[in-house]
Amino acid sequence: QQDRPGDPLTALLDQVRLRLRDLDDGEPASYIPELGRVDPDLFGLSLCALDGQVYASGDTTTPFTVQSVSKPFVFALALADHGLENVLARVGAEPSGEAFNSIRLEPVTGRPPNPMVNAGAIVTSSLVAGDGPDERSARILEGLSAFAGRPLKVDEAVFASERATGDRNRALAYLMHNAGSLTGDVEEQLAVYFRQCSVLVTCEDLAVMHATLAGGGVNPVTGDRVVAPRHAQHVLAVMATCGMYDASGQWMLQVGMPAKSGVSGAIGVALPGQFGIGVFSPPLEEKGNSVRGIAACHLISDQFGLHLMRAT
Ligand code: GLN
Repeated sequence: QQDRPGDPLTALLDQVRLRLRDLDDGEPASYIPELGRVDPDLFGLSLCALDGQVYASGDTTTPFTVQSVSKPFVFALALADHGLENVLARVGAEPSGEAFNSIRLEPVTGRPPNPMVNAGAIVTSSLVAGDGPDERSARILEGLSAFAGRPLKVDEAVFASERATGDRNRALAYLMHNAGSLTGDVEEQLAVYFRQCSVLVTCEDLAVMHATLAGGGVNPVTGDRVVAPRHAQHVLAVMATCGMYDASGQWMLQVGMPAKSGVSGAIGVALPGQFGIGVFSPPLEEKGNSVRGIAACHLISDQFGLHLMRAT
């Protein structure tokens, strides 16, 4: 993994970052107390091409917790362990049109709407193979590390903070347990989910992780196959329709690439067959997406004509 100062792509990332650096709308998330302590001025932008080259601008090596950007990757692991049909029996694939912590479940099946909102992600993380919560957490950490191409670690302080204050997620999990879409010991399942959200990554990691999805499941830096091509495709499809929560429609309209955001201020973008992007900037708009992250992705998409629906 190497930065390449002086080349045109790095210059473009620098340009986008400098243009948006003074945009100071939004606030970092504070409902997880530990997240509120972050420096709001941190701003990094990375792109990983499918030849494994990583381009970087700004704070791209500062660690932060992955939060909801873990969700597509854990969905991929659940797909690898059970296949699409079995996973779909427990979690849907429809945009919820609601916030990331929405409490709505499907009326008859009790399934959460999709794996990109908290309820769905609690289910997919419970589906990752392993004997007990410790083994499942270990497989998730190994899996995320394989996507990133380096060994990742958990931020124990953020994990403790999430666990201590995660009553809404706890309530969601008990509702799903009651509806039959979440099985097993609820507190254990929640601990696995909170740990996956507390994995530390950098902006460059996010670029490589999304490049791995964009490349059909092969990490372009290590050359390792992490998931099957069809599972990478399923994940990108659900990211495209559900990855930005109730801003997913607007995002598809204006940016036009599969993406996932998290409350730490991270956004990951994957353009199939092309590259992965990681953006990190903690202040969020009201839907929980990074303000500068959204603006940066708009600019990059426009400047290069990257919208997936573009005909020419
Ligand atoms: N850990 C956070 C939560 O469960 C993740 C939410 C997010 O990033 N949108 O509330």
